[in-house]
Amino acid sequence: MEKRNEGRVILFPLPLQGCINPMLQLAKIFFTKGFSITIIHTRFNAPKSSDHSLFTFLQIPDGLSETETQSRDVLLQLTLLNNNCENPFRECLAKLIKPSSGSGTEERIISCLIDDSGWVFTQSVAESFNLPRFVLCAYKFSFFLGHLLVPQLRCEGFLPVLESEAEELVPVFPPLRKKDLSRIMGTNAQSEPLDAYLHKILEATKPASGIIVLSCEELDQESLAESHKVFTFPIFPIGPFHIHDVPASSSSLFEPDQSCVPWLDKKETSSVIYVSLGSIASLSESDFLEIACGLGNTNQSFLWVVRPGSVRGRDWIESLPSGFMESLESKGKIVRWAPQLDVLAHRATGGFLTHNGWNSTLESICEGVPMICLPFVWDQMLNARCISEVWRIGIHLEGRIEKREIERAVTRLMVESEGDEIRGRIKVLRDEVRRSVKHGGSSSRSLDELVDRILSC
Ligand code: UDP
Repeated sequence: MEKRNEGRVILFPLPLQGCINPMLQLAKIFFTKGFSITIIHTRFNAPKSSDHSLFTFLQIPDGLSETETQSRDVLLQLTLLNNNCENPFRECLAKLIKPSSGSGTEERIISCLIDDSGWVFTQSVAESFNLPRFVLCAYKFSFFLGHLLVPQLRCEGFLPVLESEAEELVPVFPPLRKKDLSRIMGTNAQSEPLDAYLHKILEATKPASGIIVLSCEELDQESLAESHKVFTFPIFPIGPFHIHDVPASSSSLFEPDQSCVPWLDKKETSSVIYVSLGSIASLSESDFLEIACGLGNTNQSFLWVVRPGSVRGRDWIESLPSGFMESLESKGKIVRWAPQLDVLAHRATGGFLTHNGWNSTLESICEGVPMICLPFVWDQMLNARCISEVWRIGIHLEGRIEKREIERAVTRLMVESEGDEIRGRIKVLRDEVRRSVKHGGSSSRSLDELVDRILSC
């Protein structure tokens, strides 16, 4: 660990699992670089401070009602959070920057604020304190650039997509196909709030001091090269954060079921398909049953994460036919939440049926685990196209949640020669990405530049 310096970095994650994980990993990276760490967070989905005893955690009120915290409408939640949190955040920052005498708070130079692009009020708050702000882009960078164009695509009449054009590429948003667009551009009711939100994100990002990107040149070369057309400040693609040399610790909002690992220990190498759709996606009961039958029909073992409440209208897995899991004996295991990094790193895990959230996608690439892509919304659509058509390290289900399709995809990936080729390609990509964070690699250099930049602000 490098020696402590005077700087304190303040981080402010959006309260979503897919944002909390990279932000806390980033905090660990800065800590090992000698910075002190303060995490400001909302009450909703508060990270567990006890898992990170070396950081200071400060909670602010977020004004969400119980019903709003349960909502499946993430856009609504983010809009409410942005409306409610500005004043509490400003007050919290003011206390950190000018601690009152006798408050007992140790006075330190605050080097910068780092927060998610989805916080749209933080830039003006940071400016009012003369504090440099770095934006965290927790998407693939090509999605970040592309999603800012959604209002323009809407004006150009890209929706509704004609069936005859569904397979065509979207020219300004490759490798997305036109049929993917509706799952990014939202329903009619969402179009106005979404476009307004995206406009605010762009306006709040332009004056920032830089963007820290959860990606690397090896995965995002073209979009990183294009970034100067939109942003005048430096972009820092510092690689998948979790593979930097930092101590491991969990930032899970749910309790991971640790029995997954001993269960995997009993399985043969590369024999298990891991199934998880992340922290937000939900399924209809009939889709859930199709996946269950598809997995049950394969000859492969499976480890399946079903979050409580993720089967719509049900508490958990009670709609499975009675005796379903028992009939599979030790072939299948269902848990509420898994220690995903450990599962993907386990030698027994041979494939990942995923919704292609960017964290899950990167975690799978870093372990060389090939994927079956079942994207639902937003950046997942683009990540799945990159996996199946650009890097060719997975098989796309094209939204067909049918037992035969699932069984077929699992067999193609885990048993047939097509799977061997895919596995070969993902191992090459894994090695390139992992090399990028090693001394002298592109991500490692970018991190050094970022630290220099923060220290010179
Ligand atoms: N995750 C986990 N256990 C699970 C499922 C997910 O630890 O059972 C973690 C996963 O490792 C990833 C995050 O939750 O870091 C999900 O983020 P992602 O961007 O993949 O998807 P989102 O939840 O934002 O849709």
